[in-house]
Amino acid sequence: MDQRQVHILHGVAASAGIAIGKAVIMDTRKIERYPKIRITESLLSDEIKRFDDAVKTSEKQIREAIKELEAHNVGKEHSFILETHMMMLTDPALSGRVRELITTEHINAEWALKTALLEIEKSFESIGDEYIKSRVADTTFVGERLLRNLIGKKTSRCHLLDNSIIVAHDLSPADTAMLNKEKILGFATDVGGLTSHTSIIAHSLEMPAVVGLENASMLINPGDNLILDGISGVVIVNPSENQILEYEHRERSFITLELKLKEKAKSPAVTRDGKYVKVKGNLEFKDEVKTVLDHGAEGIGLYRTEFLYLNRNHVPSEEDHYQAYKTVVEAVSPYNTVIRTLDLGGDKLYSSLGKLRNEMNPVMGLRAIRLCLKEVDVFRTQLRGILRASHYGNTSIMFPMISGMDELMKAKEILEETKDNLLKEGIPFDENIPVGIMIEVPSAAIIADILASEVDFFSIGTNDLIQYSLAIDRGNEYVNYLYEPLHPAVLRLIKFTVDAAHDAGITVSMCGEMAGREIYTPILLGMGIDILSTNAFAISHVKEMARKVDLDQCRRIAEHVFHMKTADEIYEFMNQEIVGKSPDLFVLS
Ligand code: PEP
Ligand code: MG
Repeated sequence: MDQRQVHILHGVAASAGIAIGKAVIMDTRKIERYPKIRITESLLSDEIKRFDDAVKTSEKQIREAIKELEAHNVGKEHSFILETHMMMLTDPALSGRVRELITTEHINAEWALKTALLEIEKSFESIGDEYIKSRVADTTFVGERLLRNLIGKKTSRCHLLDNSIIVAHDLSPADTAMLNKEKILGFATDVGGLTSHTSIIAHSLEMPAVVGLENASMLINPGDNLILDGISGVVIVNPSENQILEYEHRERSFITLELKLKEKAKSPAVTRDGKYVKVKGNLEFKDEVKTVLDHGAEGIGLYRTEFLYLNRNHVPSEEDHYQAYKTVVEAVSPYNTVIRTLDLGGDKLYSSLGKLRNEMNPVMGLRAIRLCLKEVDVFRTQLRGILRASHYGNTSIMFPMISGMDELMKAKEILEETKDNLLKEGIPFDENIPVGIMIEVPSAAIIADILASEVDFFSIGTNDLIQYSLAIDRGNEYVNYLYEPLHPAVLRLIKFTVDAAHDAGITVSMCGEMAGREIYTPILLGMGIDILSTNAFAISHVKEMARKVDLDQCRRIAEHVFHMKTADEIYEFMNQEIVGKSPDLFVLS
């Protein structure tokens, strides 16, 4: 890129913060060129040994990476991902298949490996779930590492200067483990979304990151000056003096705001007219629980348990479930933990058991509670784990993707059977454990009055509610512009759900991303949402916004926007009404 020319690249704001530094390009791109060689019968065992040596070298490298991660005290979930990589190395689906291909096809190890990887990638092609897609990248990382070791190319390393901003096509936990964290200010990658490895790691290191930049690693040269804006998802290459000054100012404002909010994070949020607003945290990995609590969470409003299924190559046992949930419940108690049962399309889970389902439209397919009601043993195992953990603290159960009464009643029936069995076995659990459902399918919102009579609470999942009500794939960049939390249809579905819950005397939370954007807080409180549950970073922001408003004002705002016709109109109004009047909270907007 021309050193004098300023370029602005747009991506996904994956981890908030601003960094100004020098680009370090990490070569993590795929190795595309290697020959296909025919191996004669007498040399087959040598070829298999060559592959086995590459597996051993790869194991050694991953072990070192795990040690590095531990030395830098990075969250255990990342070592966990690396341990998964370690298991993949010896998984018959990969290594076994490579050996089989060498033997039956008489081909070299590189070619056999590529073929095996393509087979695996193909089997994941139809999966719509963004998180699963990013986990498919694990197989690619493992394959690339093996290939590099076969070819004799060193695994990617790079020379770090002080104030480095890492630019890469993609980053695996192993790549990041090898980096000296003291010298790094942030990450920019071509691929990835909010749930990709880079985002997860950047979050836990509390470093800014912008992902999904498409071709940043091609456009940016080593040593280019960069501004990385993880708040709005922008990377400025070779910025002007004025831009640097402006962003230095923004960075200072961001840090000052974060410090100020952090000081108050653990205090309750009380509106100006004295209404206490409960703000909980969302949790993916059990090891994140401390971070979420440190950010001021008053409980866990959504524990996404599918992560327990995804980071291993076998279905978790009852003991796996129980231990994970017990750890969280004990750490969070006396606050409440809402454990959501498995929300996963079947594909990934069953791939590990060798039973692949090929769904045309998996987001609308055998997902979440539908899968659990079909694979009742998997469901029962998880329910037993949750119930047993409930003995150790304040726990609730939540079913995802409920679309109608039948599903809810079946799920409750299986829960009751599971409770009966535990009683008979004399295993202690909370017999009055509250049971709730996610309202994230439009049909559930529309019959919320009917569903409310059968549950103790609702939690609105706006990520899916918006996806399904507006018919917009939440991971599709081409229709991103239509993904509108303030769409009048979405607001009506939320309002209807809240009113139905309150008429039935039950509480209603919101745990989708919408709950974590403070610009929406006044509308949500005005509509009557009782609890907001969000990612760790957003907790202090939402609390501060709640402290700035009074409930009457919120009700007036909600009433007012309810009569508006478009999301833009509502957004414009909120900008004037809220952002304009709270400049200290929106210093970076
Ligand atoms: C949601 O849909 O809003 C939600 C919280 O669930 P998930 O993002 O896990 O689908
Ligand atoms: Mg959902």
